[in-house]
Amino acid sequence: MNFHRSRLAIISLFLVLGFTALSCSSGVNLYSKQQDLQLGQQMQAEIAKDPAHYPILNNPALRNYVQSIVNRIIQSPNVTNKDFNYTVTIIHDDKTVNAFTLPGGPIYVYTGLMKYVDNEATLAGILAHEITHADHRHSTQQMTKQYGLERVTQMALGQDSGLVAQIGETLAMLQFSQADEREADANSFTDLYQLSGRPWYPAAIKYFMIKTLNTGGSQPPPELTRLFSTHPPSQDRLNATVAQAKAANLPEPSEAQLNTAGYQRYRSMLP
Ligand SMILES: [Zn+2]
Repeated sequence: MNFHRSRLAIISLFLVLGFTALSCSSGVNLYSKQQDLQLGQQMQAEIAKDPAHYPILNNPALRNYVQSIVNRIIQSPNVTNKDFNYTVTIIHDDKTVNAFTLPGGPIYVYTGLMKYVDNEATLAGILAHEITHADHRHSTQQMTKQYGLERVTQMALGQDSGLVAQIGETLAMLQFSQADEREADANSFTDLYQLSGRPWYPAAIKYFMIKTLNTGGSQPPPELTRLFSTHPPSQDRLNATVAQAKAANLPEPSEAQLNTAGYQRYRSMLP
């Protein structure tokens, strides 16, 4: 999913070291991993200062539960940046069915999403999708695309002590590309598929896709509008996940691989 167009105020971007161009599957990234981490940290601080828009749910049991799922997913050999800061925060907002990830790993899950999802495997699939956005550094890739080499280099040359540029609201305006979304879906599957012991049905994100496809229609309900603007449910996304399961010869999941009962217990603790 995407960091939605928020009211995040000014995000200062620290460009500490020189730039290294890193090519990867979906594009060039002129930022360093350290910069992803710093940027994410700053945005985390902005969010913490804005409880009106981001009311944090203070429930250690629930937060630890979601965090434990994330901690297990990042054990997957398919997750490359294991040193990122994949810290979970739950936002107490039932009217938003969504989640988003900041550069460098911080993950935000809305209570609206937790109530919408029906089993643990589906939540794990969505979290793995989010982890991919951070792990594959989609935000700073988009920033590279948006600002271009020349502009980013100019910002670096103008630096005195480290704080180089006030990027303003632009980061919050960034949208992941459709290619990033496809990559996040595909890696959600691969993360879970390659996970030792395979605790969750790797294609479980499809249940979320099916549910949103069925509830959407032409006019999505208000709690889904943000999701639809960043992650339009599509038959293509669903088909791609189903095809991955088929190619891997996956049998239908057992209850143990979905963990519906365990999930419902935690879900019932939500305010
Ligand atoms: Zn996404």
